[in-house]
Amino acid sequence: MLPRVTEVRKVPKAVIFLFCGNGIRLAVYPSNLFVRCPRCGGPRALSKAPSPFVCADCGLRYYFNPSVAVAAFIQRSDGRWLFIRRAKEPSKGLLSVAGGFVEIGEKAEAALAREVFEEIGVGVQDLRFLESQPNQYDYLGVTYPVLDLYFLARTIGNPHCAQPEEVAGIEWRLPSEIRLEDLAFQSLRAAWTNHDFTFFTFQAI
Ligand SMILES: [Zn+2]
Repeated sequence: MLPRVTEVRKVPKAVIFLFCGNGIRLAVYPSNLFVRCPRCGGPRALSKAPSPFVCADCGLRYYFNPSVAVAAFIQRSDGRWLFIRRAKEPSKGLLSVAGGFVEIGEKAEAALAREVFEEIGVGVQDLRFLESQPNQYDYLGVTYPVLDLYFLARTIGNPHCAQPEEVAGIEWRLPSEIRLEDLAFQSLRAAWTNHDFTFFTFQAI
């Protein structure tokens, strides 16, 4: 019987340095955490690419695609835009817009309506897709790649803090009152910068 050959299999680096506002920190991505096959327990095949995970024993190939999130720039009739003050990490205390993650099997539009209602207690209408932006979401020590889908919308009713553990406050802001450094996410800053919200009206879209 041949002796079992054991070898040290290299896996993609478990940590990556991220440059962020507070300096350099370590980022751990989901693709870095898969060392053993979740189906058979086999080792990860040699590969320099972080995706897909390939099992050396059973051949499982698991692709690490971004999570999908939706968010809405909500406009009021006086030209102000709705921002929420985040009540929790990541980016606790900074401004964001209403939204959240899309669930499996859910349409983006339905996810947005659900998240807006959960966070600020109102329905949405006049939904219009604006643009997508890649993002990263830090949660419990793991950095998740995300694709954010930004919409324009109006609300049905008056928003309020319906989810205080998520939303610390609601603020209607003119574009001139927004500083980029007050916005919670890189993707939000990019989407906000790419359009002139001062002259944005639903009639003009
Ligand atoms: Zn396997």
